Amino acid sequence: MTTKTSSYLTHFRNIGIAAHIDAGKTTTTERILYYTGRTHNIGEVHDGAATMDWMEQERERGITITAAATTAKWTRSGQEYVVNIIDTPGHVDFTIEVERSMRVLDGAVAVFDSSQGVEPQSETVWRQADRYGVPRIAFSNKMDKTGASFELVLNDIRERLGAIPAPIQYPMGQENEFKGIIDIVRQRAYTYTNDLGTDIEEHDVPAEFADKVTEMRAALIEAAAEVDEDLMLKYLEGEEPTIEELIKAIRKGTIEKRIFPVLCGSALKNKGVQLLLDAVVDYLPSPLEVPAIRGHLEDSEETRDYPADPDGKLAALAFKIMADPYVGRLTFVRIYSGTLQSGSYVYNASKGKRERVGRLLKMHANSREDVTELKAGELGAVIGLKDAGTGNTLIGDGDEKVLLESIDVPEPVIKL
Ligand code: GDP
Repeated sequence: MTTKTSSYLTHFRNIGIAAHIDAGKTTTTERILYYTGRTHNIGEVHDGAATMDWMEQERERGITITAAATTAKWTRSGQEYVVNIIDTPGHVDFTIEVERSMRVLDGAVAVFDSSQGVEPQSETVWRQADRYGVPRIAFSNKMDKTGASFELVLNDIRERLGAIPAPIQYPMGQENEFKGIIDIVRQRAYTYTNDLGTDIEEHDVPAEFADKVTEMRAALIEAAAEVDEDLMLKYLEGEEPTIEELIKAIRKGTIEKRIFPVLCGSALKNKGVQLLLDAVVDYLPSPLEVPAIRGHLEDSEETRDYPADPDGKLAALAFKIMADPYVGRLTFVRIYSGTLQSGSYVYNASKGKRERVGRLLKMHANSREDVTELKAGELGAVIGLKDAGTGNTLIGDGDEKVLLESIDVPEPVIKL
């Protein structure tokens, strides 16, 4: 499945951030966009005012809140990753929209308020993610808040969601005392040294947490061994896995939905979401690691699978329509297979219509980029499609007529 041309996909993460209202989805998303922002070099922005200005501007322009898919970049161990963030509405009224977004993302970050634990809407979204087989990691946010408790979140994941949490981090202090995060896998501690969260100091695990970390790491290795044979062999021999081996096994367990890594932090106080971004890269799947989308041949029982391959036949799904005051109708699409070219003709298999693709856009946190093509695994917006609606399948002009599995629910055009 992994051909030479599609190897770029290894470095793609298409994710959604899901949360109960008020748990901190917006704050977390803004911080992620801040750190991954193309024109905002972390080193250049050191004073709080500049950051807040930037966030306010973003808020006014509404891009971070309303773009159905935002493309960001994150560098991990010298490798650049593309992180596409797909908007997943938190409000319960938007259940259908959440379901629709579940279809186009490959992994999710569930944000919890650590003073509230797992709240009803998080539970709903978790079940939807289960239904769509979406691998996920959990982020226990607001560790600085009065009443914050990492244990509460872990217990709630167990009791309310019926999942077995695998904490891969541990907070150094809680509530007012929250100072930083311990990475259980690496056995390293990270303390934020400024309010912006841009400066992180890495250091040894403080002695007071050493026993706890040893105990948690042993439990993590045990859980990881359950899903990875090589690790199990080592475990039975009493050998320590390397950090890479442990990450690989947790990653496998996460993608198979047998392990749910849990992280912690405060998107507001320390604002550092770098460790969260690292975890997105480390544990959530690339488009090559999720099952291929299935299409149904028209008037037939036959199906076709479309693995992520830019050289394959075009298979794309329109998942959100927005009316933009400047460019008109924007059709957000996910390309599963093949390559969508600007200026080309596509066939809307849902409507039975041939349509011309005008411009193609990638939406970034603070800019829009005109591109000539969108390849398998990518998300972006099409200008020029007149008839495409939410849930419509787009295929190559002249290709056999196939409808992708989707949820067809009528939806009004959202005005920006
Ligand atoms: P959303 O409804 O999930 O998008 O939540 P928001 O991001 O809008 O956050 C809701 C409220 O919680 C806002 O007042 C935020 O300032 C606050 N908040 C978000 N993250 C944190 C955090 O880490 N700690 C604390 N103390 N408050 C937070």
